[in-house]
Amino acid sequence: MSAKKRVLITGGAGFLGSHLCDRFIKEGFHVIAMDNLITGDLRNIEHLFKHPDFEFYHHDVSTFVHVPGELHYILHFASPASPIDYLKIPIQTLKVGSLGIHNLLGLARVKRARILIASTSEVYGDPLVHPQPEEYYGNVNPVGPRGVYDEAKRFQEAMTMAYHTYHNLDTRIVRIFNTYGPRMRLNDGRVLPAFIGQALRGEDLTVFGDGSQTRSFCYVDDEVDGIYRLLMSDYHLPMNIGNPDEITIMEFAQEIIKLTGTSQKIITQPLPKDDPKQRQPDITKAKAILGWEPNVSRAEGLKITYEYFKSLPREILFERDYKNFEKYIR
Ligand code: UDP
Repeated sequence: MSAKKRVLITGGAGFLGSHLCDRFIKEGFHVIAMDNLITGDLRNIEHLFKHPDFEFYHHDVSTFVHVPGELHYILHFASPASPIDYLKIPIQTLKVGSLGIHNLLGLARVKRARILIASTSEVYGDPLVHPQPEEYYGNVNPVGPRGVYDEAKRFQEAMTMAYHTYHNLDTRIVRIFNTYGPRMRLNDGRVLPAFIGQALRGEDLTVFGDGSQTRSFCYVDDEVDGIYRLLMSDYHLPMNIGNPDEITIMEFAQEIIKLTGTSQKIITQPLPKDDPKQRQPDITKAKAILGWEPNVSRAEGLKITYEYFKSLPREILFERDYKNFEKYIR
């Protein structure tokens, strides 16, 4: 049997999950990716299929999870992760964050594995404290459209801490802020693929509200590096990993127009309910404890991401949605 450390990555065919698979393969791990492929896509990991240390399980972690053999690490990244997804598959979003985490914490106990869970800046809701430190408890509307995601993630954190405290489980919690890069789903409604997709299709760019709301975008390689360092650290409390470089959505649209050279214009559409007005991570802890901070500027990261979207087959540009999700709604 291989002496390599074995890691399970749920959501392994998704945007972040697939980049994590690449990183762990590069670090010399045996990687088991698990995904139910509602929002994940095998195209994100097909380059790994022939690798002797890569396995893929098509499975929904909201149901009992079985993985034969040893596991040293578990990373729980399975979840819908865009506001459009929460509206279309709200129950599934709640289930993967609650039933799913329960199954994986149980698996971690049996395997004596360290488990890292993907939490989110959404635990801060529409924040009244700026930038957001880990100590801020947040301002979340539990019954609004984002509630299914925000509360599932908050529950995940609570459940993970309870297993840490009562079962002595080795746990890590990362709060991920807006992250972008190659392999984002082009039509998931998130602002970056939305704008780049619109530019590539020759459509106007849709800014929601007056565009004065802010976000802080982290390039995926930086995000993955922060997550890897957190997993390997001995810090079990929640940690923000994100890029503090904050920008308004209107300025962001202008940057995309410049980057793509599109002659389309910016049009405004109504602001979705409970859309956070500002968001910026306080990364004091990540710097001090992990020696981590982002290295890739938005200009560099956007260029790489644009090249990726440009290289996709043209029909993907017009794929309006993911397929087959109806069968998962129970
Ligand atoms: N947004 C926008 N136009 C779009 C898609 C999104 O102006 O076509 C805005 C959205 O209202 C939000 C920001 O961009 O203020 C980021 O949205 P996203 O869905 O990417 O992520 P969020 O940070 O809101 O979860």
